[in-house]
Amino acid sequence: MITFEQLGLRAELLSSIRELGYEQPTPIQQEAIPQVVGSEKDLLATAQTGTGKTAAFGLPMLHKLEDNVKSIQGLVLCPTRELCLQVAADLKTYSKHMRNVSVTAVYGGSSIDQQIKELRAGSQIVVGTPGRTLDLIRRKKLIVSDIKFLVLDEADEMLSMGFQDDLDAILASSPDHKQTLLFSATMPSPILKMVNKYMTDPVTITVISENKSSENVTHAYFVVKNRDRYAAIKRLADLNPDIYGIIFCRTRRETKEVADSLAQDGYNADALHGDLSQAQRDQVMRKFRRKNLQLLVATDVASRGLDVDSLTHVINYNLPDDYDLYIHRSGRTGRGSNHGESLLLINPSEARAIKALERKIGKKIELRKVPVGADIFEKQLFSMIDRVENVSIDNSKMDAFMPAILEKLSGMDREDLIKRFVSIEFNRFAEYYKDNQDINANGQTKDRNAQRNNHNEDFATFFLSLGRRDKMEPTTIFRILDEFLPFKGIEIGKIEIFKNHTIIELDSQHKDVVISSFESAEYKGRSLIMRLSQFTQKTTKPNKKYKGKSSRGRKFGRR
Ligand code: AMP
Repeated sequence: MITFEQLGLRAELLSSIRELGYEQPTPIQQEAIPQVVGSEKDLLATAQTGTGKTAAFGLPMLHKLEDNVKSIQGLVLCPTRELCLQVAADLKTYSKHMRNVSVTAVYGGSSIDQQIKELRAGSQIVVGTPGRTLDLIRRKKLIVSDIKFLVLDEADEMLSMGFQDDLDAILASSPDHKQTLLFSATMPSPILKMVNKYMTDPVTITVISENKSSENVTHAYFVVKNRDRYAAIKRLADLNPDIYGIIFCRTRRETKEVADSLAQDGYNADALHGDLSQAQRDQVMRKFRRKNLQLLVATDVASRGLDVDSLTHVINYNLPDDYDLYIHRSGRTGRGSNHGESLLLINPSEARAIKALERKIGKKIELRKVPVGADIFEKQLFSMIDRVENVSIDNSKMDAFMPAILEKLSGMDREDLIKRFVSIEFNRFAEYYKDNQDINANGQTKDRNAQRNNHNEDFATFFLSLGRRDKMEPTTIFRILDEFLPFKGIEIGKIEIFKNHTIIELDSQHKDVVISSFESAEYKGRSLIMRLSQFTQKTTKPNKKYKGKSSRGRKFGRR
């Protein structure tokens, strides 16, 4: 067994590690710490949240700090305020036995004057979000010209949040000679470009995504039509009255819609997404951490930095954009000795993605049925009986009413009384679930006709004024959709490319967004028309027919 002592870290850091109770370095720490401690070389590490990456860069950076140098020696850039605070807090904990080490966090949505004051008092390490960091550099309040270390944490997230220009500007102010450590969960091509631009012959480390808690997580999926996703979520929440979980959605808009509908339908749910102010986000997170909120509907980015250990469920409202996201999400449940469930809703055309996902996580994903009324009814009823069994009774307040209550109910025997009390809820459940139909759509994955019908219901057919003559190919169309729509990954049904136009099926839920997004659109200097097609029956044969091209199929591995 490799120990922290063997990694060559200084005694003050080893003391903190012992106090934290870390028994053994994690795989990324075993590789990164001795590498950074013993070499000046840049480091490129593929590692997800939860692998111990903060200590993997934080400990060797602290180890190499020069105690008597008062200026900023290390700059750590993170995508979100939450992560920034978490990383700064971890670095403070690790360095608490070191003398003269001060760590400052700088991030947007909080007083810049206060942060300037902290910087003026002297900091050896600054942890910042790119926007605020650059702002402070431009105001000459944050001097990074002497840094020895630059850490880019969750670099893929920083790029996908649009921080490329800020990063370029920050890097331009930093010295050429420094040790750059880049950590990223995924290595898409924009990251590799960044590596070429900013790093010199880096040593690479890849830690196979280790979902430490994976034995404690059961994975299951449900097949429903797109329009039944929301109903399915409600039934899953109803089936698990004690649920404490996160529902992951793909876009801010979807997050808001699902959370608003759940709240309106009486569920204890709220949304966490990037359109909220920092104060609103903090408030939602606080409520959720304190368990005053049962269901948090969130985007992946907004929920980063929210570390909650006792989640019972993670629900994927739709198939995530890539496998790594699924691993991230499901790793948020089943922590410690808790058991958790990672549930996934897919539509019939996405069934083949399950196999690929199973290979990636190395575990079976069970096909389950969305419960029908009778299943939920029974579960809710017994959950209520449990509550009756466990409810605490405030005798001091009850005693005053008891004589009158007993008097009023004196003519009823025990069984009659129980039946009456239970019926108060029982009748409500019975009424609510009486029309609760089967919304499972699994059978349709095999039944071609049914699948076709399902497609027709789930997709709206659009006319696009570009065709073979304009060199349209499915990939060109995907690109056009990504460019004009306000979100990525709309579900695509059939694409039929004709000489002068294309007929394309798109998720009918987003019909209006598609229409408004293409209003006055231009493509290569020509106006581009995307409108609902008049034809449901095609009379001419298309030049090329791409059947069943599903966005989910193409989305895996993309990005
Ligand atoms: P990170 O990937 O940096 O977000 O770390 C995930 C969690 O693992 C944090 O709660 C750390 O405190 C914890 N952690 C980091 N390194 C170790 C270790 N060697 N042993 C036990 N826990 C650790």
